[in-house]
Amino acid sequence: MQESFKRTTISFYRYFYLDNPIQFRDELYQKWFSLNCFGRIYVAKEGINAQMSVPESNMELFLASLEEYEILNQIPIKYAVEDDGKSFYKLVIKVRPKLVADGLDDGAFDVTNVGNHLSGSDFHHLLSQPETVVVDMRNLYESEIGHFEGAIIPEADTFREEMDLVVDLLKDKKDKKVLLYCTGGIRCEKASAYLKHHGFEDVNQLLGGVIEYARHIQTKQLEPKFIGKNFVFDARMGERISSQVVGKCHQCGTAFDTHSNCANQSCHLLFLQCPSCAEKYEGCCSDECKDELQERNLMGSKFTLDRKDSKKKYRKSLTLKLKDLDNE
Ligand SMILES: [Zn+2]
Ligand SMILES: [Zn+2]
Repeated sequence: MQESFKRTTISFYRYFYLDNPIQFRDELYQKWFSLNCFGRIYVAKEGINAQMSVPESNMELFLASLEEYEILNQIPIKYAVEDDGKSFYKLVIKVRPKLVADGLDDGAFDVTNVGNHLSGSDFHHLLSQPETVVVDMRNLYESEIGHFEGAIIPEADTFREEMDLVVDLLKDKKDKKVLLYCTGGIRCEKASAYLKHHGFEDVNQLLGGVIEYARHIQTKQLEPKFIGKNFVFDARMGERISSQVVGKCHQCGTAFDTHSNCANQSCHLLFLQCPSCAEKYEGCCSDECKDELQERNLMGSKFTLDRKDSKKKYRKSLTLKLKDLDNE
């Protein structure tokens, strides 16, 4: 927070085959640590998925570090649109079994048979065609603060749930032109292959996701067809794409679109809370959490929690915690 130099928030991903992800991780960590990079990066046998904050003065060296690896040559980098560089505060590179925790059995369908990749402008123009079906492939906590106009928004809390919902919702539209989108494009790689496996004929996906779309709109000075904010998985929580506020405070329903976590640490629910409700509930998601927090403050460490019969979960997606948000 106190750094006086500028940072740039970027993201990138690529699927490739890697023999030794642990060694690859260690090498990347050493290089990027020495360049003072921050971020959250996943490395798997199937590729890399990275979101990072890079000091502007080291950007060239960072890009050169990518070119040292053939598998990272010319990897498309997405630059954040609304960016103060304060997106990450440490460097974490993890080795994972898969890039996206999608819960899908990759052996059950051809993951390489993906949909057509559409550029920002192609996607933008196709949105207004009457025969197209636009589907938001993100979770509800993301789409509730921003989405493309007219998109189908499945009420899903996980990618796995989302996949089955979409196949079901679109079962009569298998011959239609389907346009998929997500934050940075990686989820649509799997989603499009999954839909094709289920008999969808004309599956298309937004290349680079909403992040790239937003940059395209900005460069071309077009009126965005995405309304509200694009939820992002870092400390910024979202990038504003249009001035419209799509989200609503979960407690009073007033227009509001910045997520926060319940102030009661044992709950830590991710939700939307307007400033006046934040004051009323002292940052908590419910009276129960507020009472518990006050009680704990009074009793100090002697207070123990028994939340087994908690009934406060009034919507499933509200049980998500920010630290669990690592879909992208
Ligand atoms: Zn409110
Ligand atoms: Zn709570």
